[in-house]
Amino acid sequence: MSIRKIVKYGDPILRQKSKEISKVSKKIKILAEDMIDTMYANRGVGLAAVQVGELLRMFVIDVSDPNERYNPIVLINPKLIKKDTPVACSEGCLSFPEVFTDVRRYANVTFKALDMHGKPFIIEGKDGELLARALQHEYDHLDGIMFIDHVRNRFDADEKLAEKGLPPVQPEYLLDESEMEDVIIANGNKVIDKVDENEENVEEEEK
Ligand code: ZN
Repeated sequence: MSIRKIVKYGDPILRQKSKEISKVSKKIKILAEDMIDTMYANRGVGLAAVQVGELLRMFVIDVSDPNERYNPIVLINPKLIKKDTPVACSEGCLSFPEVFTDVRRYANVTFKALDMHGKPFIIEGKDGELLARALQHEYDHLDGIMFIDHVRNRFDADEKLAEKGLPPVQPEYLLDESEMEDVIIANGNKVIDKVDENEENVEEEEK
């Protein structure tokens, strides 16, 4: 087990697509353990393999209380099979230290994936809770998509990125989510988990 270095925004590897894992080998299990250790060491709730420089379709998540955690979930070759109800939420990423901004996500999602033993399982995130959002966030990383591509206010995000010395939002990667935005506004424009920065560092600095 070891803690690996996290790739930061600006590194082109984060834009690359990760490859399917053909066999859940010993090497993959060791990588998963390292990713869990790395996620905990950085007080994150999720981490994708590409964030430690491995272009493999795998991520780890633990949304339990940071002070009493040890409930890691490993998803190998995940597939999104159901999603509904757009919501707005405040989000961050371990590859973007201390940057949080409002993004669009789905409140309810269902994924299927393989576990550490190569067995298929289904996982659901509901009601816009942290698990639902973390699953979408990590899944995106496997296709080179980052949370800022879902940003609701690009200029606000640019300001926050500049404050932390990170490159600005890349407009060519911004996703067209106008239909989601319409639903969010129609539903009252509420942002889920708009918490203060200290709390965010604990709860949401992911991913
Ligand atoms: Zn992330």
